[in-house]
Order: sequence, then C-alpha cells, then structure tokens
Amino acid sequence: MGSVEPIAVYVHTPFCPSKCGYCDFNSYAMTGEIVERTVRATVLEIERSPWRGRPAKTVFFGGGTPTFLEAGQLERILLAVVAAHPPVDGAEVTSEANPGTVDIPKFRDMRAMGFDRVSLGAQSFDSSDLLRLGRVHEPGHIGRAVQAARDAGFENLNLDLMFALPGQSMRGWEQNLRLALAMGPEHLSLYCLTIEPNTRYYRYHLKGMLDLPDDEAQVAMYDRAVEACEGAGFRQYEVSNFARPGFESRHNLCYWRAEEYAAYGPGAVGRVGRRRWTNTKHPVRYCEAVEAGAELACEVEDVDDQALRTERLMLGLRLNEGLELDGLAVSESGLSGCVAAGWLTLGEGRATLTPAGRHVLNEVAVRLL
Ligand code: SF4
Repeated sequence: MGSVEPIAVYVHTPFCPSKCGYCDFNSYAMTGEIVERTVRATVLEIERSPWRGRPAKTVFFGGGTPTFLEAGQLERILLAVVAAHPPVDGAEVTSEANPGTVDIPKFRDMRAMGFDRVSLGAQSFDSSDLLRLGRVHEPGHIGRAVQAARDAGFENLNLDLMFALPGQSMRGWEQNLRLALAMGPEHLSLYCLTIEPNTRYYRYHLKGMLDLPDDEAQVAMYDRAVEACEGAGFRQYEVSNFARPGFESRHNLCYWRAEEYAAYGPGAVGRVGRRRWTNTKHPVRYCEAVEAGAELACEVEDVDDQALRTERLMLGLRLNEGLELDGLAVSESGLSGCVAAGWLTLGEGRATLTPAGRHVLNEVAVRLL
C-alpha cells in the first residue's frame, strides 16, 4: 500500500499578462486557447498522479499569475487537487495573485471554492519602480486588491515586496515598508532583486543600464526591513519572511524543512521520496505530453543521501527556528568557526544564524558541509 502521509501540493499556472523585465520564472505572456488547454492538461495530470491518495497538508497555486485564470478554471484545478489529495483538517490553501488581475467577485469565488490565503505580488508602491520592473499593476491597485481580499473574507494575506531596485533609495524603500505595513497584512515576504541570466534585466545590466544599489546599501535596506517588521509586531521566521504569530506560511515551511511536495503544471518542480523532477516547461509541449500520455518530466534526479543532507542544511539555515543538527554530520570545525565568527548560535541541538550570519548564509553553509 502506498504512503498516506500528508504532503504539500504545488500547482504551477504559467501565464501572466506580460513578462516582467527581471523575471526568470516559468511564465509566458500567452492568451487564447492555450490557457484553457493547459487547464485541461493540468487537471488530467493531477487525475493521473502517482501520488493520489496522499492527503494535502497545504496547497499552493503559484506562477506565473494564477489569478490570470478565470475563477471557473481555478476551481476545476482545485477540485482535481482536492479529489487526488483530500486536504487534512485546517489545510492551508494559498493562491498567488497579481494586484492588477483581481477584484471582489474573483476573490469571493476563490474564497468560496476553498482558498484561505492570498499572496499578493505588490513589489513596490512607487509607480516608477513598477514601470521599470515591467509590472502591469499600478500602486493604487495594491490597496484595492487588499481591500477586495478582505471584503471577500480572506483573513490571511501576504504582500511580496522587492528591494534594491534600480534607482531605489533607502528613503523609497522605507516608504514602501511603511505603506505595506499600513495595509495590515498578516505576512510579508521581502526579497532583494537578483539579476538572473536570460532576463531583460540581465541584458540591461550587461550594458550598464541599471542603476542598482551597491552591496552595502542592500545590506542596510535588509536590516532596515527587519527592524521595521519587528517594530510592527511581525516575527521574522525565515531570512526573507515575516509573519504575525500563527500566520507563517505552512506551505513554504514544508520547503524549508526539506519535506516532500507533489507538483503539477508546466515547469512545476516536485520531490517525493528520492525522486525530484521538473515538468516540461513550455505550455504547448506540456499539453502535448499530457494529451499523448507521455513522460511529463524534462528533468529527473534520484536524490541521494548527500544531496538530501545538503538541501536540509541549506534550507534549514534560512529558518529562525534553526537547523536541527541531529543526523546531519556537519563539520565540527566549521561549526565552531561560525560560532566564533558570530554567525551562528547553538542551543537545544540546533544551529541558528545570527543577524550577521544572515548576510553570509552561503559561506556558513559551505563551512558546515
Ligand atoms: S508577474 Fe511574476 S511570474 Fe509573471 S512575469 Fe512578472 S515576475 Fe514573472
């Protein structure tokens, strides 16, 4: 008999109204028949899942922009998930949403079909930042989307913000933090902009067209964010994530604790047992593979003990609850060196990054490995 251990479930919806300049996610500015075809294929993939029967402890619709889909399309996918992975009591069911693609009726429909958490990609409240990032929404959309989510009954809401944007000053970042906190979210995810290859931003960067804050300014912006969030009653529980007590993202905690997750949709990445796979990325190729009953994964990895250990260590260090050292066989000299450098503290079988250690996470990980 297969495992009936609850599992995290991720669904990737790859469509966006347009492609942002910095984006290296598996997302496509496509419309028309391919959208509905991908919804049908995703439902089929879930119905044929080898992991059927494992209850969902969390469900997360990410993208892309899930709310680019019509409510009825989201519902068909969610119903397939629920049939394949009956949610445990109190399962967290999240959808990412773009402030420019939601309104009260859509949020009401989503709440009624079972979503109980919304993660809004706000990114910035400054119209020139949003324009430069290539986002389709305007600052005013964010407040309207928050209000619409509240009116629709969402009591668990995350705002994503980015810092170290081209031309962004500390003052501009502080203003963004103030405006985000004033909206009363339960959760904030604050990410430093990174320039990824194969993006428009990468090409601009190579040509020297991006006026990016330097490393020192990035560190100062991060430290300011930690201070502002903690001052507003948020608890930092991961390097980039802050929550009011009890509102930590349970789905993302599964990733950071290196637990298993099933994943569906074009380009979705999952790991169950020792199998880690990435689905075929392009929506057309993905649909063709599903329709033909062919292999969907474009990459498959057999995760060995060493890879699992590395993953547990890299991810566990990100958490404020600390890295559980039991069974990890970390380097003793690396551990004592990091403690002596003021990057780690030890207690109750766990190693926890200090504020200084958060700035050198990769260095700490290398030393422990
Ligand atoms: S909305 Fe998100 S997923 Fe879509 S293009 Fe922009 S950054 Fe990428």
